[in-house]
Amino acid sequence: MSVRKVECPVCSKPGLEIREVPYEVPGFGTMLIISMACPHCGFRHRDVLCLEFGEPKRYEFVVEGPEDLKARVIRSSSATIRIPELGVLIEPGPMAEGFISNVEGVLDRVERAAMMMLHFAEAPSQRARAHEVLAKIWDAKQGRLRFTLIIDDPLGNSLIAPEDKSRVKVRRLTEEEVRELKSGPFVPIDVRWARATGQAEGGSERGEG
Ligand SMILES: [Zn+2]
Repeated sequence: MSVRKVECPVCSKPGLEIREVPYEVPGFGTMLIISMACPHCGFRHRDVLCLEFGEPKRYEFVVEGPEDLKARVIRSSSATIRIPELGVLIEPGPMAEGFISNVEGVLDRVERAAMMMLHFAEAPSQRARAHEVLAKIWDAKQGRLRFTLIIDDPLGNSLIAPEDKSRVKVRRLTEEEVRELKSGPFVPIDVRWARATGQAEGGSERGEG
């Protein structure tokens, strides 16, 4: 793990701590788990950074059954997640953070969002829509619904990594597609610095969830 201190982007005081832990994804490469915290103003951010790809990419994986729910998913703060069969679109907002999880973990997040939708729904049609989405999510979580998980990341810091690598479709995003994506929060990560110091010491810590 490496720790360094830089100027905080929020309060401008020196002392923002950036911790970086390398995280190996077999068959795909090395990621960096990054967490930053400012002791002065309380600013916090978590993200993941890919050391080897770094170009705008789309990952597409068809989930066929319960086993596929375990496929690893790494989502950086700049990534957009889509599940067309569930009508799901998760765009990176200004508070977006990165996470390392699996397909099931992504469904958990979608489920929480749908529960909120149900909670705040006023019109009967909105409630009906929320119930419909929740029913599909529960089927998906049991592995009874075939669906497609798509992750677009203009910075190439995200990936879907099932055991059988050949089942993921990966392609470069076109410039037009990149323009249509939301870019997520601005975070003070010096990408070149991180890439250059990539293969640090081995001990890795898993940031699940
Ligand atoms: Zn600060």
